[in-house]
Amino acid sequence: MENCIFCKIVKKEIPASIVYEDDNVMAFLDIHPYNPGHTLVIPKVHSKNLIETPDNDLSILMLVSKNIAKAIENGLGAHGIQVRINTHEAGGQDVFHIHFHIVPKFLDDEKRFHRTSYSDGEKDVVLEKIKKSLP
Ligand code: 5GP
Ligand code: ZN
Repeated sequence: MENCIFCKIVKKEIPASIVYEDDNVMAFLDIHPYNPGHTLVIPKVHSKNLIETPDNDLSILMLVSKNIAKAIENGLGAHGIQVRINTHEAGGQDVFHIHFHIVPKFLDDEKRFHRTSYSDGEKDVVLEKIKKSLP
């Protein structure tokens, strides 16, 4: 869809740190992560949100999200994972191309979510650790 930032990432018109890609799905690092390794999983075909996404696409997104979650736990030593699907503006959705947030969580994380940023070179290291741990 025109003017959709995630469609532009799918078409490689704007860069992203791609964790995983196949014919249907793309997963890439969130630009303002809650923790390093925070990954977004999206369908390549534009759908607006959870409610409008076809069931089959949702199933595929969930299965890929499971593999990404495993890779984040194994590759980054995360203690747990939070999966979030913000839906509609009131649900915290800012980008209206459905995405699953896969957020690495640690036992000593603060209860509130805070955005963080990558230090120099950290993003590439994190990216490689997740990619290497994918099945
Ligand atoms: P939402 O609030 O819609 O659930 O989440 C949108 C997410 O997309 C945010 O966490 C934000 O940091 C991320 N995001 C927005 N623009 C870009 C971008 O251009 N590249 C990447 N990698 N992430 C983005
Ligand atoms: Zn889109």
